Amino acid sequence: SNQTVHDVDAACLAAWPLPQPEAEGDKELRGHVLVLGGSREMPGAIILAATAALRAGAGKLTIATGASVAQLVALAMPEARVIGLTENDTDGFHLDALSSLDPLTDKVDAVLVGPGMRDAPCTARLVHALLPRLDEAGVGLVLDACAMDVMLHMPHDWPEGKPMRFARPVIMTPHCGEMAHLTGLEKECIVGQPDAPALQAARDWNAVIALKGARTVIATPDGTLWQHEGAGNIGLAISGSGDVLAGIIAGLLARGAAPEQAACWGVALHARAGDRLAERLGTLGYLAREISMEVPALLEEIA
Ligand code: AMP
Ligand code: MG
Repeated sequence: SNQTVHDVDAACLAAWPLPQPEAEGDKELRGHVLVLGGSREMPGAIILAATAALRAGAGKLTIATGASVAQLVALAMPEARVIGLTENDTDGFHLDALSSLDPLTDKVDAVLVGPGMRDAPCTARLVHALLPRLDEAGVGLVLDACAMDVMLHMPHDWPEGKPMRFARPVIMTPHCGEMAHLTGLEKECIVGQPDAPALQAARDWNAVIALKGARTVIATPDGTLWQHEGAGNIGLAISGSGDVLAGIIAGLLARGAAPEQAACWGVALHARAGDRLAERLGTLGYLAREISMEVPALLEEIA
C-alpha cells in the first residue's frame, strides 16, 4: 500500500515536545489522573498503572478500585486518594460505582480504565455509562485490557445493528491477542500485518490505537500511522508491562498532550525505560514496577 508510516524516533520526539507545566503552577494544573481498575486477584495492576501516571509527570492521582482491596491499595500507594467501589461476585464493579465517580468526572483531566479488571461484560457496561459523562466534561480516556471490550458488549438499550463508535477519540492499547479478540481476525494475521487492522480500527471506532508488540504501531482516526521499533527489548514482555504503558500514556494525557502524542511518547518512554533496565540489570528479569522509575530522567533527556 502507499500508506505513509512515520517513525517514532528521537527526531520525531524532539520535534514534538510535550506540554510543560508552568513553574508557578500547582498540582491541579499539572494534571489529575483517575485510574479505574484492579480486582481481588489483580489489585497490583492498578498500582503499576497509577505509579506510571505520576512518573510521567501528572500532578494528582485518584484511584478507584474494588472496596475489598481499596485500603490495601491506599497503603501501597500513599500518593493517591483511593475510592472503594462496590464489587459483584465475578470480580467486577456494580454500576452504582458510577455514583461515587460522578463528582470526579469533571475534575479530572484523564481517565484510565482497565488494568487488573477481569469481568469484561461488566467493565464494558461501566465504560458505556462513563462515556457520556467524560464527553460532556471533555476528559481524555485510555482503555486497556478488558475495558476495551466496550467494543463488544453493548448496553441493553443499544439499537440493533448500530456500530460502536466513540464520540471523541479515546486511546486503546491492545496487544495482538486483544486486537484479535476485538476484531474477530486471527491473531497470526495481526502479528504478521498489524498496520492495516490498526488503521481500520482507528477509523471505524474513532480511537487512537496503539497496537503493541516488539514493533508497536499507532494509528489515528484520520489515517495517520506511526511505528515504533528499534528501542525496547524482550524484557518488556513481562506481566504488568502493559499496565505501566497505559499509566504512562494516561499521565501524559493528563498533562495536556493530544491523544496521539500521549500514545507515541508513552510507547517511546516505555521502550527506552526497558532499555535502561536491561543495561543496568540484564535483559531478562527486571520487573514491570521498575519501568516507571526510569521515566522522569528520560523525560528530561528526550525533551
Ligand atoms: P502487555 O502484553 O499488555 O503486558 O504489554 C506488553 C508491553 O511490552 C507492550 O508495551 C509491548 O509493546 C512490549 N513488548 C512486548 N514484547 C516485546 C518485545 N519482544 N520487545 C519489545 N517490547 C515488547
Ligand atoms: Mg495488558
